[in-house]
Amino acid sequence: MTYAVYTLGCKVNQYETQALETLLRERGFRPAESKADVVIVNTCAVTAESGRKSRQAIRRLQGQNPGALTVVCGCYSQLEPEAVAALGADIVFGSGDKHALADAIEKALPAVMVDDPFQRRAFEPLPAGAVSGRTRAMLKIQDGCDNFCTYCVIPYTRGRVRSLPLEACAAQAAQLAGEGFAEIVVTGIEIASYGKDLPGKPGLADAVEAIAQAAPHVRVHLGSLEPTAVTEAFCRRLAALGNVCPHFHLSLQSGCDDTLRRMHRKYDTAAFLAVCGRLRAAFPGCALTADLICGFPGESEADFAQTLAFLERCGFFYVHAFPYSVRPGTKAAAMPGQLTREEKEARVRRAGEVIARLQRAYLAGCVGKALPVLFENAREGHGDNYCPVRIKEQAVRGTVENVRITAVDGDVLLGEVTNRPEPIANTGEKV
Ligand code: SF4
Repeated sequence: MTYAVYTLGCKVNQYETQALETLLRERGFRPAESKADVVIVNTCAVTAESGRKSRQAIRRLQGQNPGALTVVCGCYSQLEPEAVAALGADIVFGSGDKHALADAIEKALPAVMVDDPFQRRAFEPLPAGAVSGRTRAMLKIQDGCDNFCTYCVIPYTRGRVRSLPLEACAAQAAQLAGEGFAEIVVTGIEIASYGKDLPGKPGLADAVEAIAQAAPHVRVHLGSLEPTAVTEAFCRRLAALGNVCPHFHLSLQSGCDDTLRRMHRKYDTAAFLAVCGRLRAAFPGCALTADLICGFPGESEADFAQTLAFLERCGFFYVHAFPYSVRPGTKAAAMPGQLTREEKEARVRRAGEVIARLQRAYLAGCVGKALPVLFENAREGHGDNYCPVRIKEQAVRGTVENVRITAVDGDVLLGEVTNRPEPIANTGEKV
């Protein structure tokens, strides 16, 4: 039997698709080269647009593979299983229980199995790693979120915080190192909450230590981080490991204190700036990136102007700016002062102008420095600070080389290989 799969949304969804593919391969399934017997869509619900794209992907795969068993899982089908079933899906699962999903696909049993995510208490162990390529692997250490930010639907699709025990983090990291991966991306829905459900309540720094020490020759890249996790001790412990990438993606969401408060975020701009300072002190030249919501209900022109100025103060390398999306059932959906789509999109464009300037400045600052680059193909890869890098000569896919940066071409750094880096991937000179 053959399958075709399409994934929307975050790194956790990508990881879970990879894990599901591994489970299907163990059951004898193979990726389709032409028409598939089974089509699988792993959906996303983070914005209304993600839901629309999820429905579109289901229809497209059905059209390309007439008669195939249609399987839909993920956050959108968790929230709206009836809408998914109405599109003709044979098997509808939510965001959990990938083992049962693989069993249902193997038996081709039509089913709608969407649980109550708030009843989930245990972390579902899934196979780690990537099914194709040997560059970077994802390691999911955490699921769920207890924060209930007023705009976010994720706690309703993923349930409460559940964490992978420390020993399992270390074992999965060692396995990935043994399989030859050059980078492990530590992912989760809200990794700053790692461990609050485990005996002894270990924290994120404990998990990163366990992973980095179990895979000392592999570089470790953190997924999206809540700023509240970034204490002095956290930075000190991560920097001491030597193989943690100097790139940190922070959930900013707004640079206006009043908006942050109404979003129910747990920090203000002063605390966020202190986080940036701590990271830069521990990882000199590190790249900081962030997420930003434009046009939250009640965000005035003055509030947004504060946010734009704050982006400059933080000196980000890149910011993912997106328009606020009304998610039914959340507190923000009922707030007064909803902006029109045009107003929100205009703010995204204005943020984009600031972001492009910041990006140019960070990239220009890399020229003349050396970066350990993990190559995804013969000429292109990413530095440990996550900047895209291109070289003229040939490199071997999946290897890490030290590259001296000579110029910037658009949003890509150009450079030449100097020498092979030390065994620990990111011990080269940092920008
Ligand atoms: S921390 Fe906030 S934004 Fe992030 S998943 Fe949890 S509720 Fe959503």
